[in-house]
Amino acid sequence: CSGNGAKGTNGGIVVPEIKFTKLFINGEFVDSVSGSTFETRDPRNGDVIANIAEGDKEDVDLAVKAAREAFDHGKWPRMSGYERGRIMMKFADLIEAFIEELAALDTLDAGKLLSMGKAVDIPAAVHIIRYYAGAADKIHGYTLKLSSELQGYTLKEPIGVVGVIIPWNFPTTMFFLKVSPALAAGCTMVVKPAEQTPLSALYYAHLAKLAGVPDGVINVVPGFGPTAGAALSSHMDVDSVAFTGSAEIGRAIMESAAKSNLKNVSPELGGKSPMIVFDDADVDMAVSLNSLAVFFNKGEVCVAGSRVYVQEGIYDEFVKRAVEAARSWKVGDPFDQSRNMGPQVDKDQFESVLKYIEHGKSEGATLLTGGKPAADKGYYIEPTIFVDVTEDMKIAQEEIFGPVMSLMKFKTVEEGIDCANNTKYGLAAGILSQDLDLINTVSRSIKAGIIWVNCYFGFDLDCPYGGYKMSGNCRESGMDALDNYLQTKSVVMPLHNSPW
Ligand code: NAD
Repeated sequence: CSGNGAKGTNGGIVVPEIKFTKLFINGEFVDSVSGSTFETRDPRNGDVIANIAEGDKEDVDLAVKAAREAFDHGKWPRMSGYERGRIMMKFADLIEAFIEELAALDTLDAGKLLSMGKAVDIPAAVHIIRYYAGAADKIHGYTLKLSSELQGYTLKEPIGVVGVIIPWNFPTTMFFLKVSPALAAGCTMVVKPAEQTPLSALYYAHLAKLAGVPDGVINVVPGFGPTAGAALSSHMDVDSVAFTGSAEIGRAIMESAAKSNLKNVSPELGGKSPMIVFDDADVDMAVSLNSLAVFFNKGEVCVAGSRVYVQEGIYDEFVKRAVEAARSWKVGDPFDQSRNMGPQVDKDQFESVLKYIEHGKSEGATLLTGGKPAADKGYYIEPTIFVDVTEDMKIAQEEIFGPVMSLMKFKTVEEGIDCANNTKYGLAAGILSQDLDLINTVSRSIKAGIIWVNCYFGFDLDCPYGGYKMSGNCRESGMDALDNYLQTKSVVMPLHNSPW
């Protein structure tokens, strides 16, 4: 295998060839039943990259039928965990072989930095599959001593057909954080990638088949949320939906799950994560971590540390340095290795971020830097910082999902904790301090699924991660993620030949 899928160059920039544009159902690439297609666009300029087969209810029905057949009668749930793991290992090897091409596809579709794709996103996907491949033969229940008359054991069984609905900000990572534990558990699945970023998911379906994943186990149906996504979440033959996306859509999916067959939903939702910088923090480290926490991946990160609370003793110094750090980001073509911030994913997202910036100004916050498009064409936005932000402003409460930081001052530890918790979300939080007692107190007081102390984006695959409050109620990553794809059966029998 060669990882070189280059189509040509564009001013020295290598553009990948688009090989897969159809739905992937039961091991084949097929047109949609209606024959409809939709455009996926390049956020660098708004140009059409490709026309993608548009899945709708009839296509979801066909994909679910294939996944149901593969689950009820196919090999995948019945083969040993060790065999499943070996096929997953091959899948990971193939992804590694095509790293250049896969990274370029996400850059083209999502505006992600090519350098990050090659160094982080695709290697992380390989790591995720290998991690869960290793877990596939270590899934087991436990024994029960129920009473003096009864004994038993539990079985961990795959939950069945899983609907996987994912967002566009990390098309590859989101795909594998769900598909890998689902495969390890022995589930079959129908994946609906985000309409903005269908390209890499279709490529992964092709590589899964090459690796030996049986037909019907992974189906990929690109399409829109209210049609393909809704058909999946309301389907009577889907046993569970693994969803990452906004809280608003999470609620809609949970409603349709409840109104159909009461399927399980594991939701990973939005965030408005606080970073609390105390007076004793190392200011150099705090400023650079904070800049990364907000502006990395052009702010399109669910755990972006976009609410920054700085204690009054270092506030003025911090603000000055934060502005310098924001201005040092090099916004531009994500294929260009000398840039470190690409464009927002699409026109809607670009306009939505600019609208939030206007809200910030009209609500009385002070714009210190940025606030405008960073180029004449494409969806580039300057790294933006607001001060004089009050807790009730939209920019302090709503998820912007763009490169916009709200900087706020606090006095006491209690005030810092209260402000950090003043949100409907609870995904992540950052604490910067050198005082261990303070760190321990604040870590336990913040209502969020992950707390990063003197670091940010400290992801380790073995560390479970997920939301408190309206950021969701499941855990992804680590062995805990397998629970989203398993159910427990208890088998009970009499200990003696008793009247039970
Ligand atoms: P979104 O909620 O708009 O869409 C997510 C997915 O849901 C897409 O595939 C979309 O097509 C689908 N969808 C939309 N309407 C639907 C419906 N009615 N029924 C079924 N499916 C539907 O989110 P987005 O704009 O793609 O992504 C950004 C959001 O994702 C942010 O809120 C971000 O915080 C969140 N996110 C969370 C995590 C996490 O781990 N918690 C990670 C990444 C992104």
